[in-house]
Amino acid sequence: MNITEMTIAARERQTANPGKIPVMEHYYTLQGEGAWTGTAAHFIRLAGCDVGCVWCDVKESWEIGEDQWMDLEAIADLPVESGADRVVLTGGEPAMYDLTALTAALRKRGMKIHIETSGAYPFSGDFDWITLSPKKFKPALEEYYSIAHELKVIVFNKHDLQWAGEHAAKMDSSKTIFYLQAEWSKKDQVTPAILDFVKANPQWRLSMQTHKYIDIP
Ligand code: SF4
Repeated sequence: MNITEMTIAARERQTANPGKIPVMEHYYTLQGEGAWTGTAAHFIRLAGCDVGCVWCDVKESWEIGEDQWMDLEAIADLPVESGADRVVLTGGEPAMYDLTALTAALRKRGMKIHIETSGAYPFSGDFDWITLSPKKFKPALEEYYSIAHELKVIVFNKHDLQWAGEHAAKMDSSKTIFYLQAEWSKKDQVTPAILDFVKANPQWRLSMQTHKYIDIP
């Protein structure tokens, strides 16, 4: 399927479940990686992803269970109930869905709203912070390069450093923070190369999955 067909398929599933979006899990925690590391946020992991990263650590998010479709207003109540003032929509691939109504419901409750996306689907919704984490397995759409606040490239091997530079070249470094983050299972092998790369290219920063070191979600 091309991107148009993929988007139509995802949005048709949404249309078949009016007023709902599938949620795999949600939890209030401290953000472990990227620009907002160490800050509290209620994570809402939407179900469904067809990007197909071989090293994906949430493969259980790929399939959508019929019992996962949840009312938008109930989803928006989750961070209120946890006492959070900031929400991170993640996945799966959250941009598979039209997020306009969900972000409006969150906004109505006074939430700051972030998203983490591969950029493989058209952007929708109202966000305070957009983290673009492009994947080799499905290219990011051009529109994300001008709107993302944060570029986070997962480094699986040394070649990914060059690939990261190709994405950064499309973005304005005065408006976007560039992060390199070792894929967890490869961190011992690739971290030395990331450190050398950041020293040689100081517009980049190292992102670490601190939540995994302290064993929080
Ligand atoms: S985009 Fe994210 S959820 Fe989807 S396969 Fe890749 S790492 Fe997994």
